[in-house]
Amino acid sequence: MIDGTGNPVKENQTILIIKGRIARTGNTNDVATPSGKIIDCTGKTIIPGMIMMHEHLFYGESLPPNYIAQEMPVSFPPLYLAGGVTTMRTTGSVEPQTDLNIREQISQGKMMGPDVDVTGPYIERSGIPIPEMLFIKSPDDAAKEVNYWADMGCTSFKLYMDLTREDAKAAIDAAHKRGLKVTGHLCSVTFREAADLGIDDLEHGFYVSSDFEKEKKEDQCNVSAQSLSILRLTEQSDSIKELIKYLVKKKVAITSTLPVFEPYTGRETFPGNGGEALTPVIKEVIEKKYATASGKDSSSIIQFKKEMAWEKQFADMGGQLLAGIDPTGAGRVIPGYADRHILELLVEAGFSLPQAVKICSLNAAQYLGKDKEIGTIEAGKRADLVLIDGDLQKDIHAVRNTEIVFKNGVGFDSKKIFESMSGKVGLY
Ligand SMILES: [Zn+2]
Repeated sequence: MIDGTGNPVKENQTILIIKGRIARTGNTNDVATPSGKIIDCTGKTIIPGMIMMHEHLFYGESLPPNYIAQEMPVSFPPLYLAGGVTTMRTTGSVEPQTDLNIREQISQGKMMGPDVDVTGPYIERSGIPIPEMLFIKSPDDAAKEVNYWADMGCTSFKLYMDLTREDAKAAIDAAHKRGLKVTGHLCSVTFREAADLGIDDLEHGFYVSSDFEKEKKEDQCNVSAQSLSILRLTEQSDSIKELIKYLVKKKVAITSTLPVFEPYTGRETFPGNGGEALTPVIKEVIEKKYATASGKDSSSIIQFKKEMAWEKQFADMGGQLLAGIDPTGAGRVIPGYADRHILELLVEAGFSLPQAVKICSLNAAQYLGKDKEIGTIEAGKRADLVLIDGDLQKDIHAVRNTEIVFKNGVGFDSKKIFESMSGKVGLY
C-alpha cells in the first residue's frame, strides 16, 4: 500500500471500506474483517485514487490553419476513471456548459467518471488559431468572464498565452474574491509577473516560461523566442533556481504535464499506449503524420530530460508539484492511459515511488482544498483507491495493469471500461 502521504510503502495491509469510506487501515493481522466482501490483493499494489490537474474533456488535433478541439463527453470520463483518476481539473474548457453537465451527471451516478473541478473557458485575447475559444478584448471582459462562469458553476479558471498583465490581474482578482483559484499556460505574461499578480498555479512546468527571453516585449507572446530561451538553459542553470526560489516563496504551484511533450521525443507516439482507444482512421492519420519525426528530434529529448530535472528541483526546494496529462498534444495523449503513465515518468524523473504517488494525490488534494476528504488512504476519508495487479516497487510499468478503481467505495472494473471505450476516441 502506498498511502499518498509520501511515507514508505507498507506491506501486508488491510483496508476496511464501510459505506464508501475508509473505516480502518492497518497490518493485516491487526484489522479484523467483519462479514462482507473480501478482495484478496496478494501480490498487488494499492494507491489512492489519482487527482489529476491538467485534464480536458476535449480531444485536439491541429488541422491547419486551425487547431480543432472536439468535446469527448462519452469516452473521456470513463477512460479517466479506468486509468485510476477519481478527481480531475479540466484546466481550460471549450464547452464549459458540457463540462458542467457531465460533472452533474457523474455526481448523480448517471455516468461513470471522476469528480470534476470544472475550469471556465480559457481566458485569452484573439491571436491563437483555436476557433473554439471565447476571446476577451479588455481587462473588464476578463473579470466579466470569470464572474459569469463562476455564477454558472465553474470552480477554477485558466489564463492563456496572449493576455496583458492587466487582463491577468482582473481575472485573478475576480476569481480570488469568490475564493476560486487561477492557473495559467502563459507566454505574454512571465511566471514572475504572474506570481506577483497572485496566480495560484502554472501549467506545463518550465517549458513555457517566458522569463528568460532576452528581448521580451511586455504583454506580448513570441513562442519561438520563448522556446529558444528555454533550450539555451542548462539543467543546473542558476537562473532556473532563482525562478524556482521565487515561485516557492510566492507559494505558486507548478503542474507537470510530461505526457503532452513526450510524443515529440519519439519515445512513445501515444504515451501509455493510449492509441488503442482511438478510432482506427484517426490513429492511422496520426501515426503517418508523426512517423517521420519519430525519434529524430534530439533537442526534444534533451529538453524533456531537462524539464524532468527542473520539476524535481522545484519539488526538492519545497515547491508544490502537481501533475496532469493535457490530452491535446496533437491527438496523441489519451485520458486514463496517459494518467497512470505519469507515475512511470515521475519515477524516471528521480522521484521515489511514494513521492510520485503523492504528487498525483495528496499534493493535488491540498491544492483543491479537499485534503480532508481525499488524497490519502486514511481512516475517515473517501474510499477512492486504485488496485493495481503487480508490485510497483519491483516494476513501475505494472502501473498499466489497473484492475479495480474504487470511487466512494464503489469498485469499477478497469479493463472492462477500457475495452468498452476502445475505438471510440475521436468519434465522441
Ligand atoms: Zn491544456
